[in-house]
Amino acid sequence: MEKTHSMYAGLEEGNVASYIPKLAEADPRWFGLTLASTNGSTFSAGDSRQEFSIQSISKAFVYALVCDSVGHDEVRERIGVNNTGLPFNSVMAIELNAGHTMNPMVNAGALATTSLVPGESWDQKWEFIHAGLSAFAGRDLVLDDDVYQSEMETNLRNLSIARLLQSYGHIAVDPACVTELYTRQCSLRVTTEDLAIMGATLANGGAHPVTGASVVSPAVSQDVLSVMATTGMYEASGDWLYEIGMPGKSGVAGGVVTVAPGKGSLAIFSPPLDAAGNSVRGIHATAHLSRKLGLNLFSSTPR
Ligand code: GLN
Repeated sequence: MEKTHSMYAGLEEGNVASYIPKLAEADPRWFGLTLASTNGSTFSAGDSRQEFSIQSISKAFVYALVCDSVGHDEVRERIGVNNTGLPFNSVMAIELNAGHTMNPMVNAGALATTSLVPGESWDQKWEFIHAGLSAFAGRDLVLDDDVYQSEMETNLRNLSIARLLQSYGHIAVDPACVTELYTRQCSLRVTTEDLAIMGATLANGGAHPVTGASVVSPAVSQDVLSVMATTGMYEASGDWLYEIGMPGKSGVAGGVVTVAPGKGSLAIFSPPLDAAGNSVRGIHATAHLSRKLGLNLFSSTPR
């Protein structure tokens, strides 16, 4: 891990996200890596204890929790599992598909997923998300209030997406409340150590690698990983799968989690992003480790 860290620490491509003003304060040199195995052991390098907001990576885990409570077929029918080929905050993706969301890993589908979170009140729905994501991490995750406020003040686009979905009858609850809940889930703080454990839970049939506690079912883990593989890196998911060969999910704060089913998970944090909104060092370091550790799911050798 140390070697991989030093290989890419000097890579200075990409830009720190600034459309959420608070995220622009991130240090572009931050670079943390953690590898977690399904037996619970972890290996880290660099800023693996630096906290950052989970952002879009929450989409994969909230989707898992919703799948577990709503069911495989219904979620697939209501949210979709195909790539949009468009940026994560695309409105066109909704318009081009007769008002339907395409998948849960971009904002439209994630807002629709969050609208399905069970609970009588918005407090209960938040508790479901907070408790569920904390169960994946194996510790009580804390909200980054500054990031939350900063995004709430500049969140018109997500609010518009939620309203558009409501106009098509695809969000049955108040769009402003869903947007707020979604923004809150995106503002939970994690480290690469948390994310690697969260990913290793998905790699381990939904059971926490350290405690063994079941967070979601094995069938749900499998569903989430397949959607991450096709859509987790937005419109760059094809490039990602071609180079890395594993399901991954990124967020605009610079986090990226990659899952090797049955083996473990790799989490990287480095704020500078490429044009699709994926961490540049995250992509390079993950590709290197995927090759080095032979993790590509599509590789085989002749008998
Ligand atoms: N909260 C962010 C947004 O909705 C998450 C986007 C992302 O991480 N790609 O814009």
